[in-house]
Amino acid sequence: MEWRVDEGGQRYRVVEESVLLAWWRDRMNASPVHFYRMRAKAIERGETPPPVPERFTKRPTAASTASQVSEGQDDSDSHSEAVTALLADLPVFHGHAEHAALVAAMETEPPGCDGLEVFTHDRFDDPEQTEMMRGICRECPLLEMCRAFAVAGRPSAGMWAGMTPAEVRRLGADTAQTLSRDACEDLAMVS
Ligand code: SF4
Repeated sequence: MEWRVDEGGQRYRVVEESVLLAWWRDRMNASPVHFYRMRAKAIERGETPPPVPERFTKRPTAASTASQVSEGQDDSDSHSEAVTALLADLPVFHGHAEHAALVAAMETEPPGCDGLEVFTHDRFDDPEQTEMMRGICRECPLLEMCRAFAVAGRPSAGMWAGMTPAEVRRLGADTAQTLSRDACEDLAMVS
């Protein structure tokens, strides 16, 4: 990874593609949205859903996140230092406390969207279906906790508290520190 300066004097990072892919794989593994997407699909297939990992119920530190990334890497060991450096630049997952509270509540109070894979989609192009989903959220006993997570965590996929990702983005608070796929956009790749 190296820093360069463009013609306008703006600094930007250049990251090898293999490093970026390793980083992205680790971000996906650490993503509650990705986890719940996989969990919903397991439920849909009639399989026993995987238990909620401890990392989604505890607030991580930047150091523990970096060490998790360094561990267990096989073909990308040579990149672990670069990945760790990349992660050190990133903020801790926002909304973690709100997400942990929501997950804990889900253990005793099933959410209205439980098992409905459509709630994990990236796009919501069918207005009728979207309105139907908003109705489920309005009746959901976890609505307020879900909204608290959406406001704090800014998930970039799925419907949360009756909001699509675009509506979550429009909430107005600082999105610069939200960990999402959007974080990739400021990374220039070289192969
Ligand atoms: S408010 Fe909506 S998205 Fe949130 S847990 Fe309830 S049903 Fe699911």
